[in-house]
Amino acid sequence: MRHAPGVLIVEDESAIAELIAVNLRHNGFRPTWAMDSESAQREIDAVLPDLILLDWMLPGVSGLVLAKRWRANPRSKAVPIIMLTARGDEADRVAGLDAGADDYIAKPFSTKELLARIRAVLRRRAPEQVSGVVSIGALSLDAATYRVTFANQMLKLGPTEFKLLHYLMSHAERVHSRGQLLDKVWGDHVFIEERTVDVHIKRLREALGTQAGQMLETVRGAGYRLTAQAPTT
Ligand code: CA
Repeated sequence: MRHAPGVLIVEDESAIAELIAVNLRHNGFRPTWAMDSESAQREIDAVLPDLILLDWMLPGVSGLVLAKRWRANPRSKAVPIIMLTARGDEADRVAGLDAGADDYIAKPFSTKELLARIRAVLRRRAPEQVSGVVSIGALSLDAATYRVTFANQMLKLGPTEFKLLHYLMSHAERVHSRGQLLDKVWGDHVFIEERTVDVHIKRLREALGTQAGQMLETVRGAGYRLTAQAPTT
């Protein structure tokens, strides 16, 4: 049997937290509860959950600030976050997603809907956590051994270039904006300038060399794409 996913509920209203916890437990999850930012941080420091349900309105530090903080921290940056809130308008939804939340659910919500959102977020996150070999044309990346080869020749990449290439290869043929790359590769697009992406793309192209470097396309005004359809010279 697969392990029961741990869900950290960060919610100051105990009635709501309890209702969520009971439903999660009945549906094969392992819920833990923190009623404020400090105890939430302690929980995360102790055991990293598989997902965080984060209430926006908390006493002291808000859920929005917490989401940003956890996204900026290397330890917690990959943990999916679903924001819970009574605030339902679009500006708030966007602010929540910009802060690094994976999804957003407005109170009052049905537990059925909440469970569906949790499962969807966990499913969406899962493929990127699987390590393994990705190959596009003659370019091959092994996430387990940290090796990149082109036509069986080993290439040397820095850690950021490796992560960037891994992401682009796992989502090949699609154009990714600088903002999207910051979110997906750096985990935060609030504190890092978009120019950073250009710098690492340049380094990545250099590391890939003349031939493989051509697979990494700049799409003017849109972003970057890794493609097997690159023109050969
Ligand atoms: Ca609250």
